[in-house]
Amino acid sequence: MPATPTSPRETAVVNGLELAQTLRGQIAAEVSAATAQGRRPPCLCVVLVGDDPASASYIKGKRRACKRVGFESIEHKLSEDCTQAQLLELVAKLNDDEGVDGILVQLPLPAGIDAARVAAAIAPDKDVDGVGPLNAGRLLTGGEGLFPCTPLGIMEILDQSGVPLEGAQAVVIGRSMIVGKPIALLLQRRNATVTMCHSRTRNLPALCRQADVLVAGVGVPKLVQGDWIKPGAAVIDVGVTHLDGEPVGDVDFDAAQGIAGLITPHRRGVGPMTITMLLRNTLRAWQERNRS
Ligand code: NAP
Repeated sequence: MPATPTSPRETAVVNGLELAQTLRGQIAAEVSAATAQGRRPPCLCVVLVGDDPASASYIKGKRRACKRVGFESIEHKLSEDCTQAQLLELVAKLNDDEGVDGILVQLPLPAGIDAARVAAAIAPDKDVDGVGPLNAGRLLTGGEGLFPCTPLGIMEILDQSGVPLEGAQAVVIGRSMIVGKPIALLLQRRNATVTMCHSRTRNLPALCRQADVLVAGVGVPKLVQGDWIKPGAAVIDVGVTHLDGEPVGDVDFDAAQGIAGLITPHRRGVGPMTITMLLRNTLRAWQERNRS
């Protein structure tokens, strides 16, 4: 269990890092067993376009995580002024490379490159970030596929924390393709009754107060106040922003104490699980390739 055991009046704080480490240990054991039998390890290929320091740092973290579980990781760097055609050519080459199991093109891409077009060009069975239209369609239609990593991590946190989803009222704030929409679909697939909110939603606090499960994927510091939270609710804070130079989430963490039943902190909460689900998607892609 990642959550700290508490009395009913206390808020359990999810330890996403601990859960992530447990899952990464299982992935590493599987890779180690396979390589001991002479099989090649899973290989994740990351593509960085331009010199955005935040993107470079995210890629570094992902590659470090790959190395720790025994994956191979390859980085391709393209310059800021590369053309869409050059990027699509690289993606096509990686699609055809039998030694590559997963392809991740780090976002954001420079102006002039159509991210949706690039996502659509990644072979669906190597789309380990779950950004392409085929995997999005599979998620929508209830099929199996490679789904976006942050929502998968959230589902793992909820399941490992024993949060009941069947029939639960779930409110998701945010409707992006990488957080809001896919987590709403995953919750709905588990028979939660989902309300999706966004910047034009009226009466957001009142809607949030009905939520047994509240997911905030917004990017507005401390948007969710303590009195927006239903007593005992599971609160998942996805947001990563800064306030007065300090990293903060979408939820006022201190105000939620004693009200929420469970909460993910903005540090060591959802973040480590996102990278872990990238590893798991890459492992799955590798398993599927070896099966066929
Ligand atoms: P995004 O694409 O900017 O989407 C933000 C969503 O929030 C939009 O749907 C927007 O509504 C909605 N929104 C904005 N202001 C709002 C308000 N005042 N009230 C209600 N809804 C509002 O962002 P994203 O990529 O989904 O990421 C969201 C946050 O999660 C960011 O802080 C990001 O850094 C963080 N994140 C963290 C992880 C992690 O692993 N921890 C992973 C991914 C993202 P409209 O659609 O109407 O514009």
